[in-house]
Amino acid sequence: MVCLGLVSHLCSAKYPVLTDTKFVIVGGGVAGLVAALTLEAAGHAPLLLESSDEVGGRLRTDEVDGFRLDRGFQVLLTEYPEVKRYLDLEALGVQAFRPGGHVHTRQQHFRFADPLREPAQLFRSLLSPVGTLNDKIRLAQLGFKVMRLTPEECFDDHTSQATLDFLWEYGFSEQIVERFFRPFFGGIFLEQQLQTPAALFRYILKMFAQGKAVLPADGIQAIPRQLAGRLERTEIRTNCRVTAVEGDVIRLDDGSTLPARAIIVACAPGELFPQLAGYPQRWKSTTNLYFYSKRRQKENRLINLVSDPTSTINTFCVLDEVAPTYKLNQQGGSLISVSLKECPESDSVAQVEQDLLRHTRLPNDALSFIRRYDVPHALPEVNPVAYQYDATHSRLIDRVFLAGDQQLNGSLDAAMRSGRLAAEGALRT
Ligand SMILES: Cc1cc2nc3c(=O)[nH]c(=O)nc-3n(C[C@H](O)[C@H](O)[C@H](O)COP(=O)(O)OP(=O)(O)OC[C@H]3O[C@@H](n4cnc5c(N)ncnc54)[C@H](O)[C@@H]3O)c2cc1C
Repeated sequence: MVCLGLVSHLCSAKYPVLTDTKFVIVGGGVAGLVAALTLEAAGHAPLLLESSDEVGGRLRTDEVDGFRLDRGFQVLLTEYPEVKRYLDLEALGVQAFRPGGHVHTRQQHFRFADPLREPAQLFRSLLSPVGTLNDKIRLAQLGFKVMRLTPEECFDDHTSQATLDFLWEYGFSEQIVERFFRPFFGGIFLEQQLQTPAALFRYILKMFAQGKAVLPADGIQAIPRQLAGRLERTEIRTNCRVTAVEGDVIRLDDGSTLPARAIIVACAPGELFPQLAGYPQRWKSTTNLYFYSKRRQKENRLINLVSDPTSTINTFCVLDEVAPTYKLNQQGGSLISVSLKECPESDSVAQVEQDLLRHTRLPNDALSFIRRYDVPHALPEVNPVAYQYDATHSRLIDRVFLAGDQQLNGSLDAAMRSGRLAAEGALRT
């Protein structure tokens, strides 16, 4: 195993000349790491090339001012099949969000419980102004329906119907669309228009209905670190950018070349294959701000959904209520993560702070700003989406295979599956 602590040393050293050709993986996000695990399981010792300073890709966590800050708010869904296959959730020390949400409209603040997960909250749910009684019955029906579908059946839709059209067709009212579906799924899909294919909506709803949304104790980057920690024969080179793939030869940014037995491109391939149809990849972006509140926001392990058109905020959550380990010291107060509806100018922090004070009803001097993350390439735009395909479909040309969430749908689950499928395809060469 190449221990992560050694990686920077390896990168500054002169690389040894390879005596035999290896499987080479370009990109050390979860797709590339799962590809490496799959190749190792088949007895190989691949080489993984990562352009940044550490593996993890879009799953990175910083330690700032005594807090763990994920680079963009994201959650791990325990029900994802690839999560069950590859991750040890106990070792990750995952901590769960409470099901349901807390809705903030312009005039009201109310809890929205999920009676399927918390039957004791049935009355609260029935009385909640999140939607009409009809909406609640339909939501329960839809929940039961998606739970009975297989993942493949969730994606079995050749119409590419948008989520919003699906919701209207299903008979939901504007009230529940605006108060629940738009902020909740807009936050997951990173687009407020809910134009993401309904196939993905059904799948994600199924995952929420059957499992939990959790955070690893050490932050979201603990996920790729756990995967990398299991690699025993993979050589990882960080700060190592691939600039071209020419047949079965890889060109690096220092001008050197590497031969490969087969290549798995586990990143958006447009940069390496500019002639590819459908590229350059189109991306959805997000902006995430962290605040510290002097006053503790107690017992709020819920996702807060903002259904107020005048607010810059889409969702927020009190991270240390869900995951106390996000506070590195035992300081008082709360760590609040805020996700915005759009990615505004960088001088908008004051406006976000005002909106957050309004939604939390905290006193004016309660909040201090910690950090802002703008993530321009957060989720790939994928349409149509897919759950999986035969491993041979990963093949781009000759001995080059593609992995990454852009191959299937924008999720951690898809990224991991695409890595496994690309490796399985490469192993057939
Ligand atoms: C803010 C945010 C919120 C999200 N929320 C969720 C969520 O709640 N649930 C969920 O399931 N998913 C979520 N996702 C999506 C999930 O994080 C991604 O689907 C997944 O991490 C993608 O993994 P990947 O390996 O396909 O790509 P990446 O993580 O992008 O990895 C690609 C890697 O390739 C490297 N690379 C690129 N070009 C080169 C090159 N030329 N040479 C060498 N290396 C290169 C990159 O540095 C990177 O490390 C979210 C993502 C973001 C950013």
